[in-house]
Amino acid sequence: MRPEILFPLFAPVTTLKGVGPRVAPLLARVAGPIVRDVAFLKPHSIVRRTPASLSEARDGEVMTFEVTVEEHQRPRTHQQPWRMRVSDPTGWMALVFFGRFADQLEKRHPVGAKRIISGRVGDDKFGRQMVHPDYMADPGKAEEIPELEPIYPATEGLPARRVRAFVLEALERAPELPEWQDAAWRARQRFPGWRAALERLHTPESESDLEPSANHLRRLAYDELLAHQLAMAQRKAERRREPAACIEASVVAERIRTDLPFAFTGAQDRALGEIRADLASGERMSRLIQGDVGSGKTVVAMCAMADVAAGGGQSALMAPTEILARQHYETIEAPLAEHGVAVVLLTGRDKGRPRAEKLAALRSGAAKVAVGTHALFQDEVLFDRLQLAVVDEQHRFGVAERQRLQAKGQAVHLLAMSATPIPRTLELTVYGDLDVSRIDEKPPGRTPVATRAVPIIRIAEVEARLRQAVADGAQAFWICPLVSETETSDLAAAERRAADLTRRIGPSVGLVHGKLPPAAKDAVMADFADGKLSVLVATTVVEVGVNVPNATIMVIEQAERFGLAQLHQLRGRVGRGRQESACVLLYDPPLGETAQQRLDILRRTDDGFLIAEKDLELRGGGDALGLRQSGFPAYVFADPFAHRDLIAAAGDDARLIMARDPELKSPRGQALQVLSELFDWKAGMALKDAG
Ligand code: ADP
Ligand code: MG
Repeated sequence: MRPEILFPLFAPVTTLKGVGPRVAPLLARVAGPIVRDVAFLKPHSIVRRTPASLSEARDGEVMTFEVTVEEHQRPRTHQQPWRMRVSDPTGWMALVFFGRFADQLEKRHPVGAKRIISGRVGDDKFGRQMVHPDYMADPGKAEEIPELEPIYPATEGLPARRVRAFVLEALERAPELPEWQDAAWRARQRFPGWRAALERLHTPESESDLEPSANHLRRLAYDELLAHQLAMAQRKAERRREPAACIEASVVAERIRTDLPFAFTGAQDRALGEIRADLASGERMSRLIQGDVGSGKTVVAMCAMADVAAGGGQSALMAPTEILARQHYETIEAPLAEHGVAVVLLTGRDKGRPRAEKLAALRSGAAKVAVGTHALFQDEVLFDRLQLAVVDEQHRFGVAERQRLQAKGQAVHLLAMSATPIPRTLELTVYGDLDVSRIDEKPPGRTPVATRAVPIIRIAEVEARLRQAVADGAQAFWICPLVSETETSDLAAAERRAADLTRRIGPSVGLVHGKLPPAAKDAVMADFADGKLSVLVATTVVEVGVNVPNATIMVIEQAERFGLAQLHQLRGRVGRGRQESACVLLYDPPLGETAQQRLDILRRTDDGFLIAEKDLELRGGGDALGLRQSGFPAYVFADPFAHRDLIAAAGDDARLIMARDPELKSPRGQALQVLSELFDWKAGMALKDAG
């Protein structure tokens, strides 16, 4: 239940003065639907009254200049803006105004008039300009421009200055809250109190107050991280409280393991050991195995499933697509069946009598392992004693889906598998409610993939080599970027590429993309996996785990548009057999510095964890969207890179709190309840909930 003290912050934005039905949706877009969101809005820059000269204008900065109006350039069409040329002795700039009111500009700011202008400087192909200055004052009235004023994000119809007015009112509504941070920690960090920090957020005194390293921002970031870590620790504890079946390591699993044609890597041994300790503990397991594609996660899971079977229980292994489910089935069926553990494969394709037989085997307990797709959690699927759910690429499933599977048994143990490498520092924020085992060692005997970057102008060479390789029996992926699934032009580009390659290479070129119905997608993928197609042109939908050992070439177009982690995963689809493999990163020159560094790292290493760390460093936390794709939560204050020390500290803090005061009954515990509600992680976190 929400404490009363937070009510003002949780009121809808319409309770702010001047926020009516027109403004509310705009403010909600900029900040969020409630007063708290407005109070939490971060200014991105500050205005100073002290003017600079135009020669000092810097792209992207909010600056102030003293200028003379030189010329008005009327728009010729309705779409064009009104442009005003202004200058000072060191240079000139265009002021740009959109909208019909522009006619009045000439009267208010006649040619020859001196003005103090302030706003964001832009520099583009039209030259140096300022779109809708925040201020345009007579030099005699310079005090109209505040000495220091934070600038907030704005949106069309809601200028930054109105946003600021709402922010200040929201701030006023923010009460003093009880301190939830540990006193010694806070003293050591010299953190201000919560309200003081929030106030400072909105009254910055210099540019450095806007940096993530500013102390008040670190305080707010820590609060946010702690609230999140606490929410995850609580969920973990809740899951643990449910007693679950004790499952012992079995002789059968050991036999299966020794019968494999290879020995486990040290990392696989360690992961299996950790899983076994969980399964034998009597508490419900929630563990994630993280490891590159091909690092051997599935065979580790197989041994755990054998343990479960040996104790008379059942396991379900769920994959996001039919082709992945089939590949998992092919990996684990023979080794398990040879030792008397019956496995069934259940997909949407099963119909009629065969399906009925599989269902019966699961219901009676005759089959100990079910491998499948979404078909697994349909209502008709009943288990005799489901004890372990293994979920591959768990982020591809919704919470509800995972829960439906787990609901088919009593306190079912969860083992998730992911091939998306997450840097160690971020692991806590992405998988804080899971225990993580890392498989950071590749099975021996893999040849590294020779990786080169090639400018797109040399595509003909690449195609010629590809043709030769295909003639020699090789298979290749050709990846076209897709900025968003709705962008039909990207799709058209992929279709054109497939047509081109068909012309040059022959009819054995297939195309998959996100717009294809799942069955059609699976069919094309299956043809490629079976060797019926030589080249698979794909937008980035290619399934992460798909195993096509004969595929030795990966071409990625516009590689500069992909994140490092994504490039790494794409490349991971080749180099899985013993043959030499190649990855060609086609790029559109000139490469930016970061893009260049990204491609360099990729050429130098194929360690997914190392690449993920470098990726984070290169992004420096700036690329929020890319991070979100890798599962990083949408924090308001916390910056994954600048605040990485705080992430670890918040994780420790949350664990300690859960150990000492799990019910949050102590005075600090009660304050922490306020913190939890303040950030309200429950709603957003549903996405990550392991169920
Ligand atoms: P992942 O699930 O991590 O993608 P898999 O468990 O499917 O990886 O393993 C990929 C391939 O490597 C499989 O063919 C598997 O038999 C093989 N493999 C797994 N572990 C080892 C190992 N330690 N040594 C050699 N080959 C292995
Ligand atoms: Mg896999």
